[in-house]
Amino acid sequence: MNSFSRKMLIKYVRLRSLKLLFASSVLIFMVVCYIAFDLDEQIKYGKEDVGTNLRTTYENQLRDYENRIIPNLGENGDPAYLVGIDAKEGEKALKKIALNSILSDRIPLDRKLRDPRNKKCRLFKYNPKLQASVIVIFYNELLSVILRTVWSILLQTPKHLLKEIILVDDGSTESSLHGLLSHYLTTRLSDHPVKLVRMQKRVGLIRARLEGARKAVGDVLIFLDAHCETTVGWAEPLLQRIEEERTAVLVPLIDVIEADTFAYSTDGESSFQVGGFSWSGHFTWIDVQPSEVEAKKAVRPVRSPTMAGGLFAIDRKYFWEIGSYDEQMDGWGGENLEMSFRIWQCGGRLETIPCSRVGHVFRAFHPYSFPENKDTHGINTARMAHVWMDSYKRFFFMHQPSLENNPIVGDLTHRKQLRQKLRCKDFKWYLDNVYPEKFVPDENVQAYGQARTPFEMCLDDLQLPDDKAGPLGLYQCHPRLEISQFFSVSSRGELRKENVCAEVFNDRLVDKFDDNDEQSRCVAPGAL
Ligand code: UDP
Ligand code: MN
Repeated sequence: MNSFSRKMLIKYVRLRSLKLLFASSVLIFMVVCYIAFDLDEQIKYGKEDVGTNLRTTYENQLRDYENRIIPNLGENGDPAYLVGIDAKEGEKALKKIALNSILSDRIPLDRKLRDPRNKKCRLFKYNPKLQASVIVIFYNELLSVILRTVWSILLQTPKHLLKEIILVDDGSTESSLHGLLSHYLTTRLSDHPVKLVRMQKRVGLIRARLEGARKAVGDVLIFLDAHCETTVGWAEPLLQRIEEERTAVLVPLIDVIEADTFAYSTDGESSFQVGGFSWSGHFTWIDVQPSEVEAKKAVRPVRSPTMAGGLFAIDRKYFWEIGSYDEQMDGWGGENLEMSFRIWQCGGRLETIPCSRVGHVFRAFHPYSFPENKDTHGINTARMAHVWMDSYKRFFFMHQPSLENNPIVGDLTHRKQLRQKLRCKDFKWYLDNVYPEKFVPDENVQAYGQARTPFEMCLDDLQLPDDKAGPLGLYQCHPRLEISQFFSVSSRGELRKENVCAEVFNDRLVDKFDDNDEQSRCVAPGAL
């Protein structure tokens, strides 16, 4: 071979290897893309590698289920009933899981609800540009209830406003929520922006919501429980208000879906309450504050001192700026008051939007238990109290003395740093400016403490629940001031506790509390 042809050969070989290199890189790139895309699809539709046999089984199960749906049952949100054995089974289910699962399985997933809004809402023109990521977390919820939630969002939200629905499975053990749910999404909802994220194991409500928020890409996060139904026009006023005021965190007006009949019940067109709290660290419903009565009449945004927590909308970036959630909160509960106080104290605001209405199934009890039977609500609330309530936490710990110096509450450094970083106001500011009606048992009162009789006996509420009226009694005085013996004499001279006043009835001193009679309730000093 002469030198020329050798050179040509070398050139040829080089060219070949270059081409080969190029071709193999393209191949590798394509494989990587395919894997990435496929992974994305798995996140998107919860695609699990099921064989043909399993797919056929799921398909058959779904068809059976779909064939048993009774057309028009529960239409318009009317109460629905079954008869005979189904009715009996439904009652059993209600006792077991606080929800009539038999009935839910027979009501169409895409049932229509009547428009529950105040008529004035129809006059408002909304034209929001922001898009929503709706995040729905669930742990062992009923499949048909979850799907009805999803369908209602798809049907009631204008397409251009819905970026995605993100379902987060918080490690459910219920088998129908595994393959069958994934199969439903792939076969029935593949044209819709519904994504499914599965936690490897149960992480609790707070971390499940955080995971959903991390995956979300829409402008606004809207969190809903997995047993909700949205109604016409629910999303527009939320998105529009956040567009106007990005630090406003919004709660729709939450209607009741009855757990036994799935009736969509409202308190009327215009009546609603907003969020308060009790010193025991619980969320309560309170009347719209005096300063907000005009806004309420005009069905405009109404300030709310706290929120219930399951259903709310927040600007996605603001959610992260304002400290998302306390990731060390476990299980269920307490995160809603934490977020409420934080939002207000750190410069945001919480509002109820009366023209956005969403139904929620209020269950009589939680159908699930908590790992190690921990009182996660109490522990989470103790975390919140330490970080946000300053010295007012004394009342919470009077209710929960065992949590006061308990290491179970965990490390709070990060949350305290957050409060400093955001230069948040103190809890006194919150009480004075956001919730002046709140009765503080040892402020603006003539006296407070134990009411002692001779012989070391003290007036005692006998641990009567907050919302019950009943006789007060005498009990040995506790060595320290405990909540059952903590009484105040208000500025108006009433003998009272947080929510109730005492009066003499049949020669006995009783807690006075009549929900239907405004006059009989103590009026907090701020409301006068
Ligand atoms: N949830 C969850 N993980 C849990 C407990 C609850 O994902 O460990 C979900 C639950 O399925 C529901 C939401 O969190 O969608 C709120 O819980 P729930 O409705 O029981 O609370 P409630 O409305 O009674 O306050
Ligand atoms: Mn709920």
